Amino acid sequence: MEWQDNGISSDIEDRRGGGGGFGFGGGMGIGGFILLLILSVVTGRNFLSSGGGSSDAGPEPGPSAGPVEQSAGEERDVHLISFVLDDAQKTWSQIFAAHGREYRRAKLVLYRDITSSGCGTAQASTGPFYCPEDEKVYIDLGFWRDLKRFGGDTGDFAQAYVVAHELGHHIQKLLGIEQRMRRLASQDEGEQNPLSVDLELQADCFAGVWGHSTEQRNIVHEEDIAGALRAAAAVGDDHLQKMSGRAVSPESWTHGSSAQRQEWFKRGLDGGEVNSCPTFDGKLAP
Ligand SMILES: [Zn+2]
Repeated sequence: MEWQDNGISSDIEDRRGGGGGFGFGGGMGIGGFILLLILSVVTGRNFLSSGGGSSDAGPEPGPSAGPVEQSAGEERDVHLISFVLDDAQKTWSQIFAAHGREYRRAKLVLYRDITSSGCGTAQASTGPFYCPEDEKVYIDLGFWRDLKRFGGDTGDFAQAYVVAHELGHHIQKLLGIEQRMRRLASQDEGEQNPLSVDLELQADCFAGVWGHSTEQRNIVHEEDIAGALRAAAAVGDDHLQKMSGRAVSPESWTHGSSAQRQEWFKRGLDGGEVNSCPTFDGKLAP
């Protein structure tokens, strides 16, 4: 995959450093420091020296202080995610414009272990997801390690596929597909899982639509596509059930089988249009 390293996207919200990141970590915020300073001045006692008021009061660099600590590999991941995010959103805004619609950009939150989202608490164990409430994609970079563990491909385009899939959910939100699907699912409990599968497969297909554009611009090549297809297979419900030692039961699937995920990604890749992805097969027609 021939991607351009343009640094960090302006649509990325980097929460990997934890809380404030103002250089006053170590248990006491700047507010506490100022409070003790005022107390010292007012009472004439030095609350700032140890033993005065609380323990060590001075501002000390904590783990969340300063720039985010990261390995070179992680920095590269962040730049790759940035490239995909920007390129895919540019591609989608062009597709929207061609249909006389305006595209609204999504944000992507990078976090470690845990963070809050408009859809509740995001945890690394949840895996990457899109929250329609705040229109943000949430990614804990530890997910790539898990993808590898599940036999997935961790090549560049496989990672790109994951980001493009989550953006696919954003497209569904912008087109009103997600809202119609939720309404339908709330009316019929038995249809919830099949509808979820349709939604997920369409996000795979939309990832393929972006892939189509990258193919035409010679950013990705055949071996990249093969890697993305391996990633799609690794996150198929049947594969995940097998890997976790559970019985393979299609009625419990929420994302589709490995074969289905590959098929729909390929359909988007070949077709390159929103209407290349009719996973709902008319079910959502008003
Ligand atoms: Zn999804």
